[in-house]
Amino acid sequence: MHNCLFCKIASHEIPAEILYEDEQIIAFKDISPQAPVHFLVVPKRHIANLMELTPADNALIGHIVFCAQKIAKNQGCEEKGARFVFNCKQHGGQTVGHVHLHTLGKRNLEWPPG
Ligand code: AMP
Ligand code: ZN
Repeated sequence: MHNCLFCKIASHEIPAEILYEDEQIIAFKDISPQAPVHFLVVPKRHIANLMELTPADNALIGHIVFCAQKIAKNQGCEEKGARFVFNCKQHGGQTVGHVHLHTLGKRNLEWPPG
C-alpha cells in the first residue's frame, strides 16, 4: 500500500473533520482553511490526479461534484456561490497526490488565482 495521506484519511487511519462519507467518497474540512468554508471531497480509491481519470470514473466524479454542491448548500453557500476546484500536478499547484475537489466559500475570491 502506498503512503498516501488521503488514503489514510479515507480509511480512518488519520483523523479528519469528516462532513460526509459513503462507500465511494469522503468529504472533510481542509486542515488549513483558505476561506470560512473550505472542505475537500475525495474518492476512497487512490487516483493520483485528474490526469489519471478515465471514462470509467464519470459516475464517481459526478458523485464527488454533487456531494460538494450539497455540503456547500448546507454550509450556506447557495446564494453567493463558492469556488470548486481540482488542482492538478505541478502547474496546478497540487500538493497531495490523491485527487481531491476543493470547495471554498463565504468570501470573495479573486480570479485569476495567483
Ligand atoms: P492541493 O494543494 O490542491 O493538493 O491541496 C491539498 C490540501 O490538503 C491543502 O489545502 C491542505 O491544507 C490540505 N491538507 C493537507 N493535509 C491535510 C489533513 N491532514 N487534513 C485535511 N486537509 C489537509
Ligand atoms: Zn491515496
